[in-house]
Formats: sequence, C-alpha cells, structure tokens
Amino acid sequence: MSEQNAASDSGETFGFQTEAKQLLQLMIHSLYSNREIFLRELISNASDAIDKLRFAAIEDAALIEDDADYRIEITFDKEAKTLTVTDNGIGMSRQEVIDNLGTIARSGTAEFLKQLSGDQQKDASLIGQFGVGFYSGFIVAERMEVITRRAGESSAVHWQSAGEDEYSVDTVESARRGTSVILHLREDSMEFAEDMRLRHIVSKYSDHIGVPVMMLKPADEPALDPDAEEASADETVVATEEKPEFESVNEAKALWTRARNDVSEDEYKAFYKHVSHDFEDPLSWSHNRVEGKLEYTSLLFLPKRAPFDMWNREQPRGLKLYVQRVFIMDEAESFLPVYLRFVKGVLDSNDLPLNVSREILQQDDRVDSIRAALTKRVIGMLDTMSKKEPEDYALFWEQFGEVLKEGAGEDFANREALCKLLRFASTKGEGDTKSVGLEAYIERMAPEQDKLYYLVAESYAAAAASPHLEALKKQDIEVLLLFDRVDEWLMGSVTEFDGKGFQDVTRANLEVPNDTEDDDNEASTDLAKRIEAVLEGRVEAVRASKRLTDSPGCLVLSDQDMGAQMRRIMEAAGQTLPPSNPIFEFNAEHPLLQRLDAEADEDRFADLASVLFDQAALAEGRSLTDPGAYSTRLNKLLLELLGDNS
Ligand code: ADP
Ligand code: MG
Repeated sequence: MSEQNAASDSGETFGFQTEAKQLLQLMIHSLYSNREIFLRELISNASDAIDKLRFAAIEDAALIEDDADYRIEITFDKEAKTLTVTDNGIGMSRQEVIDNLGTIARSGTAEFLKQLSGDQQKDASLIGQFGVGFYSGFIVAERMEVITRRAGESSAVHWQSAGEDEYSVDTVESARRGTSVILHLREDSMEFAEDMRLRHIVSKYSDHIGVPVMMLKPADEPALDPDAEEASADETVVATEEKPEFESVNEAKALWTRARNDVSEDEYKAFYKHVSHDFEDPLSWSHNRVEGKLEYTSLLFLPKRAPFDMWNREQPRGLKLYVQRVFIMDEAESFLPVYLRFVKGVLDSNDLPLNVSREILQQDDRVDSIRAALTKRVIGMLDTMSKKEPEDYALFWEQFGEVLKEGAGEDFANREALCKLLRFASTKGEGDTKSVGLEAYIERMAPEQDKLYYLVAESYAAAAASPHLEALKKQDIEVLLLFDRVDEWLMGSVTEFDGKGFQDVTRANLEVPNDTEDDDNEASTDLAKRIEAVLEGRVEAVRASKRLTDSPGCLVLSDQDMGAQMRRIMEAAGQTLPPSNPIFEFNAEHPLLQRLDAEADEDRFADLASVLFDQAALAEGRSLTDPGAYSTRLNKLLLELLGDNS
C-alpha cells in the first residue's frame, strides 16, 4: 500500500494492492449468478463487529455508551441508488480502516490469482475459500463508502472507494457508534434496492445470526393492528411516515443454541458459510450439546474442499469460541489438533471464564478434555461417513487424506481409529484411486498371511511397475501402493494395525511367503560373488532374489536404512546424509542373468553387471551417480550386439 498524496490535514488517498483490479474483475465474473452473497458478507462483518463490542465491554462497560440495543439495519434508497448496512458494533479507528479495508485479501493474493483456471464454477469456489468478504460489495456497487466510529472514540472515519485503484480516508463527525457501509449500486444491480428481494436474502443467509437484522416496515403496509383497519388508510400511511419503524427480518437466535430438530439443513449450510467464508456447502456437520462435568455446545463442519494453503501447519485455524453465548475469539486453535486444521465451526463453553485468553487456553485442563472429546467426535464423524456415505468419504479423502495421515502418525491416542480411516491405492485396487482401507485389506487377505505389505514410491506409476511386487503378485498377495509425500514418514510411525505388523516390500528382510524355491544354491552364490566384485563400493551386498519373476534385478534397502523417499525429502531440505549402499538382488532365472553367468570375458561381464545394476536403480526412480558411465557401457554393449548380428 503506498501513500499517494495528502489531500488535506485529515483526508488522504491510498493505493490498493496491485491485485485489486484483477480480483474485482474476477469476482464480478465468477460470482455473477451469485451476486447476492455480498450481503451475507456485510451482515457477517456487522455481526462480528457486534460480537467484538460485547466482548470488549466485558472489560470496559463504558464502551457500550448508552446503546446496548445491538442490531444491524439495512436500508435502501431507490432514487439515490444506495443500499446501506449499519451496525452498532465495535467500529474501526482510522488505522483499523486502513489496515482492514485497504488490504483486499490476506497475503498471497497474487499467488492465489495464478491458480485460477478461468472455469467460473471452480474459480468461484476458490474465491470463496479465500474469503473476499468486505470487498465483495464491489460486485454490485460502483462505489462504496464506510462511515465508522470506534467505540470509545469521539470522531468517525469516512472511507470511500470505487474498488479498483485507490481509496480515500477522511475524518468526519458522527454520533453513532459502529459502522455504516453504503453501496452505490451499479445500474445492473438495482434489484438490491428492492424490499422483497432484500428480505429474502436476509432470511436466507442470516436467520442464524445472533443479532436482529432490521429493515423498515414497508411504508404502504397497513398497520397490523386489526383495530386500525377501521381507521382511514391515509392516517395509517401518515403515521408510518412520521416515525419509520424497523422490524426484525431474521430469527436472530444463534443457531448452535437451538435444538437440532429445529434447525433445517439449509440453515446449517448457511451458518457454515458464515463461519467458514466458504461459498460451497459443507460436506458434513455434527452438532452436539454436552452436559455433565463440562458443559459446552459444539457445531463442527467438514468442508468439501481443501484450502489452497492447507499444507501450512502455521496457518490460522480453529473454531469460533464463545463463552455462554458471548463471542470470545476467532480461530481458537486449542480445541482441535493441528491435523484437524480443516474443521470449521463453533464451540460455546459454559465453564471457561469470559476473560479467557489464548495463553490460558493453551494450559487449561478443561480445554484439553474438550479437545480430546472433539477430536473423537470428528474421527467418529469420518468413521460413520466412511461406512454410510462411502462416496462422500472418497471426496473427503481426496481432499484431506494427506492431512489425516499426519494424525495417524502423530496422535498416538487415536492411532488405531485414524488408521481405520486411511485409504490407499493397492495392487488390488482401482488404478491410482486411493480407496483401499486397512480393514478391507485384512478382510481379503489369506488366513496364513500375517503382515500387511506395502511399497512407497515417488508416483503411482513407479509403485505399480515396481519389480519388488512381482513374486507377491504372482502369489496373489495384495500390496498397498503408497506415493504421497508423507507416506514414508507415516509408515515410520505406524508399525501395526489390528495386531498385525507392516512389511515394506523393498526391504531386505522381506520373506516371500510360500517360497517354493530352494534356498541359495551354489551356482547363484558364485554368481553373486562375481557380481559383487564388480559392484564393490556401490552395493552393500549382492544376492539372488526371491521377489522377482520378470525383471532381471532390483535394489533393496537394508532394514535400518532410510527409505528413498525420505532421503530425497531430507536432501531437498538441505541435509547431508551419510551415503548408503543398497543390496542388489538379481533374478537367477532371467535369461540375461544366465547369459551373464556364462560370460567368460571379464570386461564384458563387468559392463553387463553394471548396466543391470544401474537399470535397477532407474526402475525405482533413483538417479544414477554416474549416468555418463551408464550410457557409455550400454552403447558399447549395443554396438557389440549389432556387430554380432551384422
Ligand atoms: P473478514 O471478515 O474475513 O476478516 P472482511 O473483508 O469481510 O474479512 O473484513 C475485513 C476486516 O474489516 C474485518 O476483519 C474487520 O476487522 C473489518 N470490518 C469489516 N466490516 C466491519 C464492520 N462492519 N465493523 C467493524 N469492522 C469491520
Ligand atoms: Mg467478513
């Protein structure tokens, strides 16, 4: 934000971030058929501002001045083409206006804009999770004005902008505490200066908000008092014009305080959008009142789509916290573990003190118990969904599976339950779809199988084509195929499920079940020694393999070695790791190996053995330490081959 010029002693003009114009165009474009959401955003801000005032007044009752009749008013003027949303909440100081209304979206806007595809529906949902809030007013307004007086301050601030480049700020007098947002409607948005239309939107989006949203009683509406009907119509109209009367348009009862049966699906969905800033419906929710030693109400939502910055474990997260209906803070992160950072919702506690702070939350036993209970609640929700709505669960897993894996790795208390929720691709699954759960795996494995087999690779393609699977596949043993970034770390922490251990099929200790071949016969031991002599310094050992049926060779890791995926991640993070050599396993039955065994020329033997070794590395997606030497050798062999035939 750059300060461009100072117009007068108090009036100033500022530039928006450079992305403002682009963002506005995009919003108008993608939200065209859904323009009305701007009103939800403004009402939501007004309600937040009242929540904040109530909270601040706990410490400083003087802030209430003499206006404790909390309300949001919506008025419009068809002739002036304006729509105004007024609240008597906390208001904003001059600096707050600049900080809050001058910054269009949270940091990373530019990066976000790059992700947009041009597909309206997709972009609209991305915009939704980005939380454009206040700025969405420009979808329907060619100019917006804000007049706001912070509780406790004497003068008010007037903000004005056409949304695109800059905004101005000056000081004005206003007796009213709180904020008025005035929208100067665009020609194509005059429907938002229609009473019926506005009432409809307000009740659609704001019934669940805890403060009344007021609109003027329509001027031509006869008085509701039945006695008045006898009075002349003229008198009634005059009476209303003299003293405009407001009436509440929404239910004004905080949704989570209502009984579950009293709340409709649509109301839950609207409420979700209020707390999450998401434009899409939630995937699922759970609303519970807990009584007993601790008393609280929780309303937890699972979104449909992961936010673009879900990987950031530091991202603000958490529930809206209320204490006995009084709003305390947004993003109270102590009530859910980090791995459930995608859960949105509200927690209303009857036990915590009103002056609770983030610091206190971090070390309060009650908070710990609530967190444990809410964690179980979310896991339970997911468990039910996985059984009753497997299609929804598949959607969930696709979006949030990797985050939930963090939980299986780090939440020891809930590990077994979280492991049940894991879904993987497998040699018996549907391609690269992650749909196989551990319970399903165990259910279909042979009675004598006592381990769960898995393989971690860089990609599904690399996993599915891995030579390590050959013998297991031949014996119809299912292998889970893992290829997410967190997988090797996950398998390092999760060592058993349902009393059965896991076996990495690329490890040296793999014992191929039902192995019928005779143990290392002499011939292959001799060949192993001969190859080992060639590969000295590059391998830890060479041995005949039992896991191969088609490929000539593969690399296996000794049991204590770090896996290839973890190694790559650590190296990418700048760690230097001690070199570790793999074990080279060859398939003694393979024609190439038989040819190798018969090779009398030691140079040729060495070239061929090296090529087989390098190919095994390539097949695993490893990079060669000396790729030049590999192609030189391969070319030499090819030439000899072509020469042989000519
Ligand atoms: P969000 O509500 O997600 O924070 P918005 O763009 O809707 O984002 O609003 C930005 C900020 O502007 C709010 O966080 C709040 O600090 C301030 N603000 C907006 N509207 C009001 C209002 N009516 N009263 C007081 N502050 C407001
Ligand atoms: Mg907002």
